[in-house]
Parts: sequence; C-alpha cells; structure tokens
Amino acid sequence: MSLSERYRQVLAEIAEAAVAANRPADDVHLIAVSKTHPVALVDELAALGQVDFAENRIAELCEKQASSQASGARWHLIGQLQTNKVKLLTSETIVHSLDRPSLAEKLQQHFTNSKVRCLIQVNCSGEASKSGVLPADFDTLAEVVSKQPSIQVLGLMTMAEHSESEAVVRRAFADLRTLSRRVTEQKLFQGFEGWLSMGMSGDFRHAIAEGATHVRIGTAIFGQR
Ligand SMILES: *Cc1c(COP(=O)(O)O)cnc(C)c1O
Repeated sequence: MSLSERYRQVLAEIAEAAVAANRPADDVHLIAVSKTHPVALVDELAALGQVDFAENRIAELCEKQASSQASGARWHLIGQLQTNKVKLLTSETIVHSLDRPSLAEKLQQHFTNSKVRCLIQVNCSGEASKSGVLPADFDTLAEVVSKQPSIQVLGLMTMAEHSESEAVVRRAFADLRTLSRRVTEQKLFQGFEGWLSMGMSGDFRHAIAEGATHVRIGTAIFGQR
C-alpha cells in the first residue's frame, strides 16, 4: 500500500471506531507520528491534508519543523523532555510529556512572557519502564503545574501496557478518562480542555472506545521504523 492508501485507511478506521463507540465520526483527531521517517513523508502527508505531526525527540522535531515545506503543520512532542533541552522548544509546539515538577518549573522559566501548551503524561499502567507521573503522585504534580502561569494544560496523555488482554489495555485508558473527569470537576487547571491523548497503531481502537480525543499513530501510516 502507498502512504496515501495507508493514511486513508487509518482515517477510516478511526472514524469507524468512533461511530462504534457512539461518538461522531470526526470526534477523534489523528496525530501522525513521523519519528525516524524523512521529512519528505511529512510533506507528502501534509499535502493530503494532515495537520498534526509528532516526534519523540525535540532535536528531530526542530529539524523537521525547520525543513518541512508544510506551512500549516502543527507539531507535538510526545517523548521525554530533558530540562536542559527546554530551550529548544517554541510555544507553537504542544508538549504531551509533562511528567515532573522540575520540568514544569523549567518550562515556566523558559516561557516567562508567553504560553506553552502541555498535556500531563500519566503512567496509568504503573510499569517501571514507562515514563509519566504515577497516579499516586498526580495531585502533587498538578499543584506545582497549576502555579506556573505560562503553562496551559490542555489534557492528559498515557501509553497503555503492551498486552494481549483487551481488559488490561482498556483499563489504562479508562483510568486516564476518570482522572480527566476529576481534573475538570475539581477545576485543577485554568484552560483545561479535556484532551485525552491515548492510542497508538496497536491499540487506538480500544483508546477511542474509552474516549480518546487524540490518537498518536506512526507505524500504521508510515510503516515500520
Ligand atoms: C512512537 C510513539 C507512538 C506511535 O507508535 P506506533 O506504534 O508507531 O503507532 C505513539 N506515542 C508515543 C509516545 C510514541 O513514542
């Protein structure tokens, strides 16, 4: 299959999964994960109408942002961000991996006179290999983040366990949705928009069933890395 065929298939599967979950077909946004793939593929996908792109390394994101011909592209950082790399960030990039107080404070220092849009990454599955704040530590982090006037928390992000069990995968996504509802009810962040960034090539159908608003898909569009 060509890039455009894979892209259209993924879009159709996202819409199908939304409808199956009694949601409008256009309820779920696709973020195309272009990490390790050449910028030419970003441009090709942008020409087909794709707007949102994600990288997991800030250096690679900056390179592609600078060399891409796609004028309307919107970039997302989905990998861990070291505090010493925060200086590379611009306020156009949406950070999905805010996971610790020191990073929140560093972001505030860097964006003193502007805004940075973030999602808090939560380690719902509790696996040691996964990044993200543990649910037990969420409130402590939330309190620090809410004191940083330059950070707008758009929503929450998680990665599910790699498991054959649908129940195990869905539990992580359901936990994130429950946490998001509490954030809304308790008004923990001003400007919170309830984004649920969850679901990748292997599990986006389950994520959509559990309320994902943004799915991050690489392999199913671009092929193996
Ligand atoms: C690489 C990556 C994805 C995309 O994974 P695929 O399985 O290729 O769809 C999504 N989210 C994060 C955080 C990633 O690092």
